[in-house]
Amino acid sequence: MSDKILSLRPNRPSLIRHLESYRVRAAGNGKALGLLVIQVKRGQEFGVLFGFRSIEALMQELAERLAGACRSDDRVMRTGEYEYAVILPELMNEGHALLAANKLLRSLTTPFEIDSQIITVGASMGIALFPDHAKDCDALLRYAELAAADAVRSDVPYKLYVPTAPEELAGSWDLESELDTALDNGELEIFYQAKINLRGGLLAGAEALLRWRSPKRGLVPPNVFIPVATRSGQIGELTWSALNMALQHAAAWPMRFGPLSLSVNIAPTLLEDSTLVSRVADAMGVWGAKPNRLILEITETAVMRNPDLSFETIRGLKSKGVLVSIDDFGTGYSSLANFKNIPASELKIDKSFVMNMLENPADASIVRTIISLAQAFDLQVAAEGVENLETLRSLTNMQCNYAQGYYISQPLPAAAFAQFINEYVPPVF
Ligand code: C2E
Ligand code: MG
Ligand code: MG
Repeated sequence: MSDKILSLRPNRPSLIRHLESYRVRAAGNGKALGLLVIQVKRGQEFGVLFGFRSIEALMQELAERLAGACRSDDRVMRTGEYEYAVILPELMNEGHALLAANKLLRSLTTPFEIDSQIITVGASMGIALFPDHAKDCDALLRYAELAAADAVRSDVPYKLYVPTAPEELAGSWDLESELDTALDNGELEIFYQAKINLRGGLLAGAEALLRWRSPKRGLVPPNVFIPVATRSGQIGELTWSALNMALQHAAAWPMRFGPLSLSVNIAPTLLEDSTLVSRVADAMGVWGAKPNRLILEITETAVMRNPDLSFETIRGLKSKGVLVSIDDFGTGYSSLANFKNIPASELKIDKSFVMNMLENPADASIVRTIISLAQAFDLQVAAEGVENLETLRSLTNMQCNYAQGYYISQPLPAAAFAQFINEYVPPVF
């Protein structure tokens, strides 16, 4: 192993310690210190496809390549499952950091061999500098990671950290106080998206999806306000109110297909709320929800962050007749060792795989793998993001149990969804 590699195991505290000693040195001789964060594109997909051992071998080779492309006093260190950091001490200026980024990226362009398959590994990089961007090492790492996330979003190879404009921060404060008013004034609404049984195509249930009809901003999607509510702590109130509204609506749904299931999303932070199980049970009691009809969707990433605690919460929910679906499955990395004891009842395959499964054989393999995994562990499996008939057919052939997506229906306001139930005709597939 190259002596430029500090560690092949993710170890953030140790990275911060190393960074600190470089920072002191840079501050002492008036130089800059650069930190590059490199995220492997489609890391989770490779994880599912190739398994733990092969991925570890790939990550090791990646580290060697990065080390090979570095100057002699640069240092490489693993910071996450699919993430490396490169410390660039004694930089003259920003331009040198960009040159280094280019060189490191080039080192990854030669394909890798993994399980006798040749694959190309893409990466997104974020760059932050001391003292220009951050004065301490925690902030330096955070900013480099933010820049890397920005590179992923913008689909560019790398981004230099851009300090957040004060007015952007003010924007999120506005949202916070507006959200308070929204809760009080009943501006939050729930849309419902149908979920069908792939054996016969009958309606099986619906997922409740929050919308905020803001008088000032129009219809605000959850991707905008859920993160704000999570940061501010408003997420609890938001969730309990959504759960109650949804249970109330579901109690009045037409019975054409018998009792339908209702799926409600639970934010990751609420898994640590000790009142979750009793609050859910109370709400079910109030609205007369039948056992095994309420499904709580919790993301794979949230569950696997602390499997012991999550499993205990899920078992608690199960004892009250509530089912749990693991949402966005495939985007977090569940180890089989953890997975085998999972008390959930359903895996919900992330839409990013389903939407591209016809064009992209790797995505199709992931979908197929998740379906077999579910079958092996006696779990139901649902696919979200079904946008066309071909995908519906293909999922049916793969013996997926449920499907949800624009091909079947967009999320609809409550009244429109009740009408949808009354008029629904199964597609021919
Ligand atoms: P999710 O739970 O994975 O929900 C699926 C998202 O995919 C929904 O977006 C849905 O409208 C969208 N979708 C469904 N079918 C298709 C399709 O065929 N193609 C495409 N491109 N997209 C499709 P939405 O409603 O914007 O929700 C986004 C995320 O916001 C949800 O992802 C969920 O994580 C979160 N969210 C929504 N409502 C709530 C809530 O009440 N509580 C919490 N904690 N999170 C919520
Ligand atoms: Mg969901
Ligand atoms: Mg999802």
